[in-house]
Amino acid sequence: MIRVLSLASEAVPLVKTGGLADVVGALPHAIAAHGVQMSVMIPGYPQVLTRLNPPAVKGKGKARKAAAPPVVHEWKDLFGGPARLLSGQLDGNHAGDLLVLDAPHLFNRDGSPYADGSGRDWADNWRRFAALSRAGADVAGGAVEGLSFDLLHAHDWQAGLAPAYLKFAPPAGGRSVPSIMTIHNMAFQGYYPADIFPRLGLPPEAWAVNGVEYHGGVGFLKAGLESAYGITTVSPTYALEIRSSQFGMGLEGLIQSRGDNVRGIVNGIDAQDWNPAEDKTIAARFSARALSKRVANKRALEKEFGLDRDDGPLFIVVSRLTWQKGMDVLCEVLDHLVGLGGRLALLGTGDAALVSELHRGAARHAGRVSLRIGYDEALAHRMQAGGDAILVPSRFEPCGLTQLYGLAYGCVPVVARTGGLADTVVDANLAAIKAGAATGIQFAGVDYQNFALGITRAVDLYRQQDAWTEVRRAGMRMDFSWNQSAAAYAALYRNYVEQPSLEGGANLSGDQ
Ligand code: ADP
Repeated sequence: MIRVLSLASEAVPLVKTGGLADVVGALPHAIAAHGVQMSVMIPGYPQVLTRLNPPAVKGKGKARKAAAPPVVHEWKDLFGGPARLLSGQLDGNHAGDLLVLDAPHLFNRDGSPYADGSGRDWADNWRRFAALSRAGADVAGGAVEGLSFDLLHAHDWQAGLAPAYLKFAPPAGGRSVPSIMTIHNMAFQGYYPADIFPRLGLPPEAWAVNGVEYHGGVGFLKAGLESAYGITTVSPTYALEIRSSQFGMGLEGLIQSRGDNVRGIVNGIDAQDWNPAEDKTIAARFSARALSKRVANKRALEKEFGLDRDDGPLFIVVSRLTWQKGMDVLCEVLDHLVGLGGRLALLGTGDAALVSELHRGAARHAGRVSLRIGYDEALAHRMQAGGDAILVPSRFEPCGLTQLYGLAYGCVPVVARTGGLADTVVDANLAAIKAGAATGIQFAGVDYQNFALGITRAVDLYRQQDAWTEVRRAGMRMDFSWNQSAAAYAALYRNYVEQPSLEGGANLSGDQ
């Protein structure tokens, strides 16, 4: 049994702003079957502390809950204040051990994990996530009595300094453990001015090209990529793309230099949360064999969004409303989509300018285009169940989850050919349709022409009902459960635990 500490800034079901939380929350349960015991460590934001389940303790007869989460460690001064490590549990299908860093001076704030109520990043984010990384390195490195780990798995820039702490400043009396750094999105790197360096508690030699220094400042993600034994990202295509300047965002040279220590492992989806045959949030449950039941969900969705009721294609979008997600190009294609007889229901939050532009589009096409601006998990389920096709025009997409939910729910993905979208959707070209392998539509390049062509192809396919049904069924047959991906992570952990070397490549056969 390998013991892994998974360190991140968010995890479902406690705190989520994006796909990172889904991965961190789902992995412990999925990987248990592959000989890995994983604990998740996250910051103690208010919404985490209020929902923290204490671990079950043995009582008289059956297990009962302890009264309060036990404190398993204390730091007298962690970056400017006292901190405690609380022990708890992830519940249900996210079952797993949870460690929460309760540091009120850093994390007890209203707002999102990263920004205040008006959306401005907290000015001391460098300190907040350096503290998370320091504490994570202490825990993984054996500084906490009773907790012992074989490997640290750090996620994204917020945990990026942890591998660097293990490399340059391991805990006193601790042991050296290997680490893995996962990139969920290269666009967020955690870059700060040089004057924070003396406050990080790292030795002078860490201020180096093979340490935390990056373009004269401190790069959190860069530090993790340089210091971790292995690097993963969330799809094989994105693992290749980040070797180029277009997607590497300045770190492409470093990624290239790490050679085959860089792997792509596609995210799974939570098959219990996202299963149309058992989903209690939707109007009518259905399966690949009973697809006709799905139409009740379409009718319900039309009603909920105030859209015209008809039998033309109903497109959906569930997305952050940002440039990365191609939402500006979506605004441009609205007229085309409506002109083809399509309708659009959109759920999202994001850039104010894009929200205004989308509102203008909806006003122009009353009954054909309708928006819900906000974050609503249950509505996301109803949309995947009722929509005919989901549009995902991302300029880059490390993995993407919404196209996977679309596949599971018979909501045909229409996606840009990039990153995880390219890896998970099989384009409905003639050969693929004939072979029964097609699961969606891919288009190359996120601009008006390519996206409009993708939508035209989707509408054409929709009008050939037999072919459309086949494509839906093929998508629903795909297995994107965590099982395969968990096996790939487990193999990677094992490799680095058995041959711990910063230089030695993981000796695995091929990406999964
Ligand atoms: P990213 O992490 O880049 O935002 P992903 O596709 O990997 O993109 O993951 C997005 C996740 O967030 C999915 O689970 C998606 O359903 C969910 N999501 C995004 N926006 C909303 C929203 N407005 N309401 C509900 N769920 C949303």
